[in-house]
Amino acid sequence: MSGTNMGVDNKFPGKDLTEDDLQNKIPLVAKKRPDHRTTFTCGGVEFGGKLVPVMAGPNTCENEEMIVRTALAIKKSGAHFLRAGAFKPLSFPYRSAKFFETREQGLAWLQVAKKESGLPIVTEVMEISKIDVVAQNCDMLQIGTRNMQNYPLLTEVGKTGMPVMLKRGYGASLRDWLMAAEYIALEHDRLNQPVQIVLCERGVVAPHTHRATSRFMLDLQVIPAAQELTHLPIMSDPSHATFWQPWVKSMMLASIAAGADALMLEVHPDPVNAAVDPLQCSSFEQFDDIMKACRKVAQAIDRTVDA
Ligand code: PEP
Ligand code: MN
Repeated sequence: MSGTNMGVDNKFPGKDLTEDDLQNKIPLVAKKRPDHRTTFTCGGVEFGGKLVPVMAGPNTCENEEMIVRTALAIKKSGAHFLRAGAFKPLSFPYRSAKFFETREQGLAWLQVAKKESGLPIVTEVMEISKIDVVAQNCDMLQIGTRNMQNYPLLTEVGKTGMPVMLKRGYGASLRDWLMAAEYIALEHDRLNQPVQIVLCERGVVAPHTHRATSRFMLDLQVIPAAQELTHLPIMSDPSHATFWQPWVKSMMLASIAAGADALMLEVHPDPVNAAVDPLQCSSFEQFDDIMKACRKVAQAIDRTVDA
């Protein structure tokens, strides 16, 4: 790798990746040459190619009717994957009619939505003991921001051999993110299969976020920065990053322009009454409008959102 200028000088180790890190700490995740890009197909959708796949759906798989309705609507507007949480990292432990997980029941509803719409499923896995049941009911396993450095979970998820979407920890450096991905990559490599990981930027903590309810800031710059160092596809999630629906469209378009290889956003049939995060989810109409604009921006940089 020396002479490629892809890492920084070894004299300055720390938060950035050095050439030594690339060679010895993330050999499976690091690019082997400047034009090295991984492509793989999951649920019939190609990642890492010209297509910019879009994953859409509610925060929570609330009930069968809403998830089937959402799947059919987003499919019509051109989404490639249905997303929804059945196992949720709710930030406090008390459950109520408002704050709930639907767990195994939610996974079963996701299967109905998949059958009705034909869309593949991405959903979060949080506990090692639930990996089997989540894996049996999705096409791609999602590791949430809060678990990015849960190394035993990453290892066990890697052992399934399934494609994984690894969200960036909201306080994590690019270095820590890529090193976490290497835990999954190592298990894929041990299974003698290609590494199938999508890295997802979902907003980081920042001193100023421009609105009291916006906890994070979308780090657009990490898209080209990551692509300089890794061959893995980079996804952007403007819903969780902005936490404010009126900003989602522009950040979706900016993500495509910045080179994002995939996109995620939250879509709900009735955003005002969404169980979780009502401020940031888009309605079916808003999603349709966002997809139309994405189509134009993707075309301008020789990418596409049309499978
Ligand atoms: C989610 O995708 O619904 C989610 C909980 O995301 P994050 O882990 O980025 O907060
Ligand atoms: Mn969410």
